[in-house]
Amino acid sequence: MGAAHIDTTMDAATLLRNAGLRVTTPRRAVIDALRLHPHSRADALFQVVTATVPQTSLQSVYNALSDFVDAGLARRIEPDGHPGLFELRVGDNHHHLVCTSCGDVRDVDCAVGETPCLAPADTHGFALHRADVTYWGVCPACTGDAASLTS
Ligand SMILES: [Zn+2]
Ligand SMILES: [Zn+2]
Repeated sequence: MGAAHIDTTMDAATLLRNAGLRVTTPRRAVIDALRLHPHSRADALFQVVTATVPQTSLQSVYNALSDFVDAGLARRIEPDGHPGLFELRVGDNHHHLVCTSCGDVRDVDCAVGETPCLAPADTHGFALHRADVTYWGVCPACTGDAASLTS
């Protein structure tokens, strides 16, 4: 997709142009919403976008997100049992921690930088680009809840 070196600190218009997408107000607003709220559902991003661009439709947010994913500008992650979550940070092979209790999602960097950190025993001839790893566990807030319930 040629999007491995997107610098997501660039302003929204530059990001869109670099990804080959036309710069529109809803798209810029969705980029800004993703930047502030990574790992968000489309409907949550829609709430954020309409706070600044009230005339935006939910469909245009969905369209923008799918355009971003196609262009390699955003990534869609789908932890088991969760709706699709979107984030801007792509191309760095980072992984996710997901809390099985409250669904909180955190980024964790790949242990070996850009190289896929999971080297399969047999690649079956595939040229590997990345490995997506989801670590499942219970976040500190939920661990605290459980401890206070049992004490
Ligand atoms: Zn939790
Ligand atoms: Zn992430």
